Amino acid sequence: MPDDEKDLTCPHCDGRLSKWKTPLASTWGTEYQYVCFNDECPYYVRGWKWMREKYNVRASYRFRYDPTTGEKGPLPVWSPDAMKDKTIEGDEEE
Ligand SMILES: [Zn+2]
Repeated sequence: MPDDEKDLTCPHCDGRLSKWKTPLASTWGTEYQYVCFNDECPYYVRGWKWMREKYNVRASYRFRYDPTTGEKGPLPVWSPDAMKDKTIEGDEEE
């Protein structure tokens, strides 16, 4: 992958972003994106409380970065393990 994508970190927790395969059914037109799967990430931790208070639902979101458009935004999750199986193996260690 290009050099500028190698060391992508989450602006909320400084954790390394995981390469994440975009689900086919999604409206994102990109093949993959980068997502922070750190369970300690403040963005994600705060999300649980926020979603419960605003919408009374048990859900949160993780930090998401789209390398194609440069867009940053939330990736909704409904459990700590949600979406984790979509990360692309092999990019973690280099
Ligand atoms: Zn994070």
